[in-house]
Amino acid sequence: MSRPFLVGTSPAVLREWAKSHDLPAFRGTQIADWVYKKGIVEPERMNNLPLPVRELIGNEFLAPGTAVTETAGSGDGTEKLLLTLQDGETIEMVLIPAEERLTFCLSTQVGCPVQCRFCASGRDGLIRNLAAGEILEEFLLGCSRAGRRPDNLVFMGIGEGLLNFRELAATLEVLSSPEGFGMSPRRITVSTSGYVPGMLKFAELEREFTLAISLHAPDDETRSRLIPDKLRYPVAEIMAAADLYLRKAGRMVTLEYTLLEGFNDTPPHARALGALAVRHRCKVNLIPYNSTGGEFRRPSRQAIREFEETVAAAGAHVTVRVERGAKSVAACGQLRTRAKHPDS
Ligand code: SF4
Repeated sequence: MSRPFLVGTSPAVLREWAKSHDLPAFRGTQIADWVYKKGIVEPERMNNLPLPVRELIGNEFLAPGTAVTETAGSGDGTEKLLLTLQDGETIEMVLIPAEERLTFCLSTQVGCPVQCRFCASGRDGLIRNLAAGEILEEFLLGCSRAGRRPDNLVFMGIGEGLLNFRELAATLEVLSSPEGFGMSPRRITVSTSGYVPGMLKFAELEREFTLAISLHAPDDETRSRLIPDKLRYPVAEIMAAADLYLRKAGRMVTLEYTLLEGFNDTPPHARALGALAVRHRCKVNLIPYNSTGGEFRRPSRQAIREFEETVAAAGAHVTVRVERGAKSVAACGQLRTRAKHPDS
């Protein structure tokens, strides 16, 4: 991939590019307007540019290479898209409309090296990282599917985004810069499985992005039964990195907690989680598990309510994720897994 992606190339660079080809700088501005104001990256659609300029763009930048190849909707409007990349690999993104707000859930890697035991996305491990241009194309395909820009973005799709830090940081810059897509960093959430080196780098950006930690267990022993050793960090180190993030970014961190019957849903787990959240000034978001047909089960409604009440009784701010897309192949990675392993 020696040619750059058009999306992700800044307006300033596009103006320099125009000048370097003996074109007036405003041609660069026109191209940037197509990409960042209209969300259009195909040069043939840039109809205020002379044909030779459109051809030049086609020769010097990568043609958009990602396409929607399958969709799965559910009755509540949530829609999951299977996207096929230029090299034939697949990722997923989800469009989630709720109360007049639209959220996109984006992927950052093809497959995932963390391989949490309850997650279909990690089943085959990491295939490769996504380039920033690919993540931005994912964003644009969602915009074109929805017919508008999202209000919120969450990087909670396939992959551990902080293990692809350079491309993720470049993506966040384009999404949030006024010269790019101009989104408020507060409306962009990056989720991590607790990859501490990435959390420390993310804190050093000192930007107001939202950080969500997929903790899933308040203690190392329970966590070790859910997340393999190779990329699992001690809870104490994860929480120290969360403290740093609060200091540097000035944003409260959210602890995401997938509730799995019989694994992490007991009263002692709830009390420990509540205490951890209060001590580190974090919010808690409980996610009742969506079955992938494996060894894990979703707790009963009663058990979920009792867990929530126990966390709240510790003094923590706690919410339960509203279930969306339950009737579609909704859990992270399931659409892609079905495409890759049609017999499973
Ligand atoms: S839950 Fe997230 S970090 Fe864990 S395997 Fe799935 S995509 Fe990777």
